[in-house]
Amino acid sequence: MSDLKVGIVGCAGRMGRMLVKQVTQTEGCSICGGVEQTGSDYLGKDIHGLAGLEPSGITVTDDTTHLFEMADAIIDFTAPATSVAHAKLAAKYQTILVIGTTGIAPEEQAEITESGQKTVIVQGANMSLGVNLLAQLARKVAGILDDEFDIEILEMHHHHKVDAPSGTALLLGKAAAEGRGVDHDAVADRGRDGITGARKRGDIGYAVLRGGNVVGDHTLIFAAENERIELTHKAGDRSIFARGAVRAALWAQGKPAGNYDMMDVLGLEG
Ligand code: NAD
Repeated sequence: MSDLKVGIVGCAGRMGRMLVKQVTQTEGCSICGGVEQTGSDYLGKDIHGLAGLEPSGITVTDDTTHLFEMADAIIDFTAPATSVAHAKLAAKYQTILVIGTTGIAPEEQAEITESGQKTVIVQGANMSLGVNLLAQLARKVAGILDDEFDIEILEMHHHHKVDAPSGTALLLGKAAAEGRGVDHDAVADRGRDGITGARKRGDIGYAVLRGGNVVGDHTLIFAAENERIELTHKAGDRSIFARGAVRAALWAQGKPAGNYDMMDVLGLEG
């Protein structure tokens, strides 16, 4: 079987560079191109060179449509509005699309989900095996413990991150809400400041830290009278997300059109 031709949108970004490296080092796929925003300083630069690899002669362009035409699969870790536009292109050109972008609003998500009726879209707020396993544990533990146990989620990321709480924190909170059989958005307490009053029983609380170059730390706390369970995941570097995204692109080959997540890719129970 010939290699899966993979295109990277946002190929000069932090994740973009990781993805170029990961695709290049993974059997069964190869890089066919990469794009950046019009006006970017990286246009014309060698995409493998940017990823710290031997230059390949493939340069960064801003011709996104052409990339979707020629690629079998596109991996997209960019920004919400951009990922919505890419989902439409993927539907038009029947390209597999793997989206890692976070901070996607509900109305943007609805558009991506609609595009998933025409092509294969795999989305994950966190592409690592460890976090998806943690989400499964969160669902299970929340299903066993009742709301005597307060659920709190603490996350820390690098100072460049633009959305809060992180997509991963929300993914973990949603898994816990599912396990408890409650509507996440009705119980989520996403920020506390000032005289907030006592904690409401049954809430899922979020706390956000930003600083330095922390790739992503997440702790789920189940706190009751006199005892506390804490489940923690710490990302050492971004390669774990890139590995998951490339695995998703390979997994998606030959699948029927639809919206999939990392639980599907990793074969973990939802
Ligand atoms: P970044 O800012 O370093 O990279 C984003 C890149 O996308 C930039 O180079 C930007 O120029 C490019 N881009 C934006 N719009 C574009 C367009 N229209 N066409 C082409 N390129 C475009 O950010 P990052 O740290 O790499 O993170 C990107 C996204 O991925 C964020 O939403 C982040 O939260 C998410 N993320 C997800 C996971 C996961 O596992 N799902 C892991 C890490 C980061």
